[in-house]
Amino acid sequence: MHASTVGLRYRALAPLLAAVLSMVQYPSPAAATHGGPEIGSFLSCNDPDRDPPRCTSVGNDNQHFVYFGESLSEELASALRDALFEDYRPTDFIVFERHRITSVTDVIVESQDYGDNGAAGWVNCPPEAPQGFNQLGHRWCQRQDLRFNLNPLYAVFFADEVSREYVACHELGHTVGLRHWGNPPQSSGPVGATCMNVNTPDGPTHLHPADVEHINAYPY
Ligand SMILES: [Zn+2]
Repeated sequence: MHASTVGLRYRALAPLLAAVLSMVQYPSPAAATHGGPEIGSFLSCNDPDRDPPRCTSVGNDNQHFVYFGESLSEELASALRDALFEDYRPTDFIVFERHRITSVTDVIVESQDYGDNGAAGWVNCPPEAPQGFNQLGHRWCQRQDLRFNLNPLYAVFFADEVSREYVACHELGHTVGLRHWGNPPQSSGPVGATCMNVNTPDGPTHLHPADVEHINAYPY
């Protein structure tokens, strides 16, 4: 290829390159205000390599019936109640605290010492739970298991009210299809004050307004 041809091509591309560079330096307002991943289902629920088994699913509708298991301490039940009614009730979700498992139960919450499995809390859609795929191709699940691990290794997540509210808000988020925002530099993802950050036991106890927008925008 002749050098002059290359030069011509470069001159033709120069305005485009300048435009691209200016976009990088000055993000559009839409890009600047975007926060957090959208709602969806994530991970296979039956991956034998993942212990404990865990996955994120969406609800089957916008009514969320949460069963408070008898294994929950008064402190954990209180944190769960606060998260449910302070963080999720203000959304378009209609939330219910329940003490019996029925055909409409969406989440079953229990706690015990599950050993050193690397997780203070997690959510899973077990094989026997009612489940399917909605029109967006997302897995919905009822009777999702939400577990709090009382093993001493994870005591920091349950040591005080703020930590308990964070972990309750976080795991409830997974039951409606919210995913992690990340927590740079520990993990990649946008930065925001939200309980959907990972591994911040003393950290935000509430959803970010963008999380609420994602919940309200979901087409149930
Ligand atoms: Zn999580």
